[in-house]
Amino acid sequence: MEDYQKNIIAFQIGVEGLVQGVGFRPFVYRLARNHGLNGWVVNRTDGLTIKVEGPASSMPCFMEELRNQAPVVSQIDEITIEQDEPEGLNGFFILASQDMTNETSEISPDIAVCPDCLDDIKNQPHRLGYPFINCTNCGPRFTIVKDFPYDREKTTMASFAMCDKCREEYTDILDRRFHAQPVACNHCGPVYTLHTGSRTETSFEVLLDLTSSMVMQGKTIAVKATGGFHLMCDALNDEAVSRLRKLKHRDGKPFAVMFRDLETTRHFARVSETEALALSSWRRPIVVLNTLRPLAAGISTALNTIGAFLPYMPFHHLLFEKLKIPAFVLTSGNLAQEPIVIRNEDALSTLSEIADAVITYNRDIFNRTDDSVVRIVNDKERMVRRSRGYVPLPVKLDFLADGILAAGAELSNTFCIGKGNRAYLSQHIGDLKNHETLLFYEETIARFQQLFRIKPSLVATDLHPDYLSTVFARKLGPQVVSVQHHHAHIASCMVENHLNEPVIGLAFDGTGLGSDGHSWGSEFMVCDYLGYDRKGHFEYMAMPGGDSAAEEPWRMGLSLLYKAYGQSMFDLDLPIFKSVDNKIIALVTGAIHKQINSPLSSGSGRLFDGVAAITGVCIHSQFHAEAPMRLESLVMPGIQDCYDADIGSTVSFKPAIVQICSDMLEGAPVALIATRFHNTVTEASWKMVRKIHEETGIRKVVLSGGTFQNKYLSESLENKLLKDNFTVYTHSRVPCNDGGIALGQLAVAAKTMNN
Ligand code: ZN
Ligand code: ZN
Ligand code: FE
Repeated sequence: MEDYQKNIIAFQIGVEGLVQGVGFRPFVYRLARNHGLNGWVVNRTDGLTIKVEGPASSMPCFMEELRNQAPVVSQIDEITIEQDEPEGLNGFFILASQDMTNETSEISPDIAVCPDCLDDIKNQPHRLGYPFINCTNCGPRFTIVKDFPYDREKTTMASFAMCDKCREEYTDILDRRFHAQPVACNHCGPVYTLHTGSRTETSFEVLLDLTSSMVMQGKTIAVKATGGFHLMCDALNDEAVSRLRKLKHRDGKPFAVMFRDLETTRHFARVSETEALALSSWRRPIVVLNTLRPLAAGISTALNTIGAFLPYMPFHHLLFEKLKIPAFVLTSGNLAQEPIVIRNEDALSTLSEIADAVITYNRDIFNRTDDSVVRIVNDKERMVRRSRGYVPLPVKLDFLADGILAAGAELSNTFCIGKGNRAYLSQHIGDLKNHETLLFYEETIARFQQLFRIKPSLVATDLHPDYLSTVFARKLGPQVVSVQHHHAHIASCMVENHLNEPVIGLAFDGTGLGSDGHSWGSEFMVCDYLGYDRKGHFEYMAMPGGDSAAEEPWRMGLSLLYKAYGQSMFDLDLPIFKSVDNKIIALVTGAIHKQINSPLSSGSGRLFDGVAAITGVCIHSQFHAEAPMRLESLVMPGIQDCYDADIGSTVSFKPAIVQICSDMLEGAPVALIATRFHNTVTEASWKMVRKIHEETGIRKVVLSGGTFQNKYLSESLENKLLKDNFTVYTHSRVPCNDGGIALGQLAVAAKTMNN
């Protein structure tokens, strides 16, 4: 007995990070039991406290598995271990939470079906082939949550009564499905239904056979996924893809493709190790990859990239077992700019016009989420669109932002609310100028207030008074802080990187209202959260036609040419003059000359538009940011040379434009011109940073704004600055585009108030 007691040791363990509402306490319970340890676990405001006591020999294994086998969604920031006195505890207990009155514990994002469940689907008698199988480690979460606390009754699973078998698992703490709220099986859970013009099919076996044969025949199917409906067709069938494109009124914008598995993806695209990790993570985002072999022509017209993802619902896995094709297009089920369809009725009325069949299931999607999109830049995952699998995980702040609502921008909108030292960013909302999207925005703001129990006492908006986000949010809060667009971009990136000191911020994007009333978008700022000093920018360009210049690259092409050459630009034999009606060209040139309806812009996006038009790479564009994307996709890595730019208080690319034109006239390859142009922007930006550094001594450089979605530009500028001993901070948790701006607005508002 004495010997035994000698070997009993005890520890108190603190686990910080995202460990609440993600099945962590049952995990600790099972782990302790497996290792024959006694003790308890309890939630506290900022994490968990665990007490374990037992044989010393069991401890190392327990500690290791605590770190390495934690639930997939949990995120351990820190584990502290302190030796403690054994109390002679008998058993292991989950203690009631203390001091958690106003503390929401986290709501998990939706999680791709896990390998254990894919096993069970083949072996568990009551779940054989069951397409809604899930467990503590996987399944829908945020999309089905109606209110807090996260409990089956507060989800859209409430209408499904558990069968005895499921309830047994749900209540057994040693079971993989202990308190898995969406737990269900063939006897008691949701079911799929296939609707075609002539029939309704509810037998899942038959439904799968029908679906796979329809897809292989080139048909289009609308199918309900985790966060909304998808449209699906064979990714190698040219005709099917172009028909889908026509019906969806989606000209040119790339379609995402779901591949059977990682191996198959590698056949069609180049996949680095980091890209493979992103593809197979439980979040299952769409990953932008470089194409290796072509799929159907209409998927990503003339771009060298493809948005690829892997199966994340049991349905996808089961369908691939039937299909004999390597991949299908899986694009959001919506019309043009509208939000993705989530209701069965809407799918049956609107999507049935596009699709040959509609597959619904009888559980509601409460919170709409799109598929998230990421791109690996400099070996780090960057968000392009943040939604399913990421939302509503918060960003931890180094300051308090309680009760602040940040309204976001207008295009690619997300908003953000502050609670304590956490910032909750909404899922991707979209372009608020679309009426349905605006309703989605307003509804989601109301839901976040309810879900996270905050009533805004302060509202942060863009400086632009006419952004629909600004207009709406002003009505909500008693107090409003307006934040300049590019200042918000930089602040957002500072928050992510826990910076709290003046930095040199580069905010490159398409547009954002500046304090001088012009449209900005190539800003070199020295800033902290409280303010900014605009140290420089790319020279202003006339935007003939205002907003339409952002949609028609040739307008910016003319603007740049006119600035460089005046009327003699017409002597140049450039493709732009052959692709646009002469009369229109004359009219627009007149407008530039007389400064009629030609607001000024320093937007780097507009510069890229103009160069894409001058080089003939993209004279007319069909979707947002097409021209810069096409220009980027031509770049030949490894070529260093560049054109000239004049660096003063502003950067003038006039010399570069002249050199581009003479390259064009000499018949230089467009790819070479595109590369040189990219290098010019990098070189000029680096020189500007050096100049500001010499003046201020600051070495910390922050890169933000949608232009940095350009992988080549981002990587070359970051690497050039690093080589010159600057410390460079970039985004990884929120998008660098306007989808991340709300976080910056929130930070500026919080700091302004705290000041
Ligand atoms: Zn699972
Ligand atoms: Zn059941
Ligand atoms: Fe922006």
